[in-house]
Amino acid sequence: MSATASTFSAEDEAQILAAIGSWLDNEVRHQVKHFDHADEYPHEIVKQMKELGLFSLMYPTEYGGLGMNASAYAKVITLLCETWMSLAGVINTHMMLGQLVLRFGTEEQKAHFLPRLASAELHGVLCLTEPDAGTDLQGIKTRAKRDGDDYVLNGSKMWITNGMYGSLYAVLTKTNPDAKPAHKGMTLFLAERGPGFNIDGKLKKLGYRAVESVALSFQDFRIPASRILGGEEGHGFQHAVGGLELGRINVAARAVGVARAALTDAVRYAQQRKTFGKPICEHQAIQIKLADMATRVEAARLLVEQAATKYDRGERCDMEAGMAKLFASEAALSNATEAMRVHGGYGYSQEFDVERYYRDAPLMCIGEGTNEIQRVLIARELVKRFPA
Ligand SMILES: Cc1cc2nc3c(=O)[nH]c(=O)nc-3n(C[C@H](O)[C@H](O)[C@H](O)COP(=O)(O)OP(=O)(O)OC[C@H]3O[C@@H](n4cnc5c(N)ncnc54)[C@H](O)[C@@H]3O)c2cc1C
Repeated sequence: MSATASTFSAEDEAQILAAIGSWLDNEVRHQVKHFDHADEYPHEIVKQMKELGLFSLMYPTEYGGLGMNASAYAKVITLLCETWMSLAGVINTHMMLGQLVLRFGTEEQKAHFLPRLASAELHGVLCLTEPDAGTDLQGIKTRAKRDGDDYVLNGSKMWITNGMYGSLYAVLTKTNPDAKPAHKGMTLFLAERGPGFNIDGKLKKLGYRAVESVALSFQDFRIPASRILGGEEGHGFQHAVGGLELGRINVAARAVGVARAALTDAVRYAQQRKTFGKPICEHQAIQIKLADMATRVEAARLLVEQAATKYDRGERCDMEAGMAKLFASEAALSNATEAMRVHGGYGYSQEFDVERYYRDAPLMCIGEGTNEIQRVLIARELVKRFPA
């Protein structure tokens, strides 16, 4: 639960969306295929994202940010993802880390980190998942052992987005591996790199290319006790899952972008391609696909808007964020598949963007809690809200 105090007016929102839209059209769109196919980090594009203020969006103005709320942020993410989903990956963990520090950090941590995050001097990263634990975060093994005024970290993390080019890492650890329940022995640290912090390699992926996802490990990595988020051991699990509401809204917003891009391309192609003497958009089988795709986009967009509005009001929205994430990610996957079918053989070619949507879309069904788990959580919340 969180209230996002926005200093952003509707006019500001429209202005920034227009500025981002023209930047995407003029500077980004023509380069996406190259960076995606080469799986190459787009350094110049990321530099421009910083200059445009995209790293500062949700940071409060008192720390040098733009003070954008979750509803407006979701629209930015959708817009970015209509052009290229990987761009949202560059800023998502950065924004989530900022929210964690803002909501749970000590005053010293806020003063020390938030201005540097808002100005993009630091790039935020979330390190929760491990080789043997993703959904079941209480099963992580990374150990943080107290040693004087420091803790010593040992363990491995997996699938860490922005792991290579990021610079401030929220690392979930076990400070008491014997705690029962296990979550009471979990602690989140705010770590900058140093001796014993190893980047073990970039992982090769089906889609979501160019933004790096890495394996990393800690070998006797020392970190001061003052870098425990909030200053006290034992709250790391709550902190980590507390950030997931925004994470789910973000993934859902991404999915709306990919679903809409697939629709836009399919509608355009269906008017250009002719079979049996007429554009394929005049064949009923194609019309049914386009109508279903458009309906999914609008329904997904409204679910995102509903969840983000609740988040901004400071209301609990785990069920709404879960529903938005579940529906929008499945919509993106369906739309990517349908766009490929509408394009026929060309949909299978690297010449057209639909092959990228087809590779990018499945990630949204996995990240920020798999869709299997979303369903479990939604059902649990329903039972809680409507007891027999
Ligand atoms: C490209 C990419 C980027 C990522 N970026 C990050 C990042 O920046 N930081 C980070 O910490 N993590 C990141 N992740 C990790 C991601 O959050 C996990 O992959 C995800 O949480 C699933 O965990 P897992 O892969 O261990 O799957 P598992 O937990 O092993 O799940 C395997 C399957 O079992 C199902 N399952 C598991 N438990 C249950 C249950 N109780 N009931 C029903 N079904 C269940 C799951 O739904 C899934 O279908 C990233 C992953 C990818 C692929």
